[in-house]
Amino acid sequence: MPSNLKFCDSSESYELSKYVLFGVPFDATVSFRPGEKLAPNRIRESSYNIESYSLFHNVNTKDAGVYDLGDISEYHDPEEMLEEVYGIVDQIISDKKFPIMIGGEHSISTGAVKKLKGKVLFIDAHTDYRDSYMGEKYSHASVARRISEIIGKENILSVGIRSVSPEEIKDGTQNFISSYEVRANYEAALKKIKEFADGPVYFSIDFDGFDPSYAPGVGTPEPFGIDPYIVFDIMKIIRKKITGLDIVEISPPYDNGNTTMLAARIIQEVIASVESGKVGDK
Ligand code: MN
Ligand code: MN
Repeated sequence: MPSNLKFCDSSESYELSKYVLFGVPFDATVSFRPGEKLAPNRIRESSYNIESYSLFHNVNTKDAGVYDLGDISEYHDPEEMLEEVYGIVDQIISDKKFPIMIGGEHSISTGAVKKLKGKVLFIDAHTDYRDSYMGEKYSHASVARRISEIIGKENILSVGIRSVSPEEIKDGTQNFISSYEVRANYEAALKKIKEFADGPVYFSIDFDGFDPSYAPGVGTPEPFGIDPYIVFDIMKIIRKKITGLDIVEISPPYDNGNTTMLAARIIQEVIASVESGKVGDK
């Protein structure tokens, strides 16, 4: 793990920490705009521009017990990358800590889900349900399909969808809430998420799920996206059930700085939300 740069709230030793971050600088299967492997350190840099105190949750994330392990090695073979991700998440979970993975592209999530099981809630513009893409079964465009083989597609819900291929429709994708549905009836969308989240949930945020005006620096931008504020409302629903978090598909070469800033802030607010969940609902 060569990087010396640590997420801003990483003030604890590993032993005393509750939240363990690590970066996965992997972009070998990206189809359009590469650069995702640069995101972990750009997100860490952005994290130094935010206050540790969360006004929304009344929590100081400096006191929450955050530790940043740094980045895993750079791989070209997705299966080798997934092995290392699995091993690290396995260690974090057996030490009874909360894993936060900073991508890298979306294919990295499979390594965490293989360990955590439970249900998976995605924010994404894409269903990612292709059996393979450009000959690669572990492509970022196939992550939901690979995860469905581990936990079953009925245990996946994707929010913000607005891009799906005829092949995926034919195969029958996981359940999803489109970005149009989120906009048309926000409360109904939250209700569906609440009904889905009836047990442990892993939360995977593909930043292209957000509208490109909020998150321009992504590998495959899609117009007509959702508002990042939904993360607060989702966390209200899952903060006592969430098993882990990942932040994926950010491509710093296409960013104006706002995307990595949003990522750093979301990591901080998810930690603050889980912490506030521990002291009871407000
Ligand atoms: Mn995705
Ligand atoms: Mn996507």
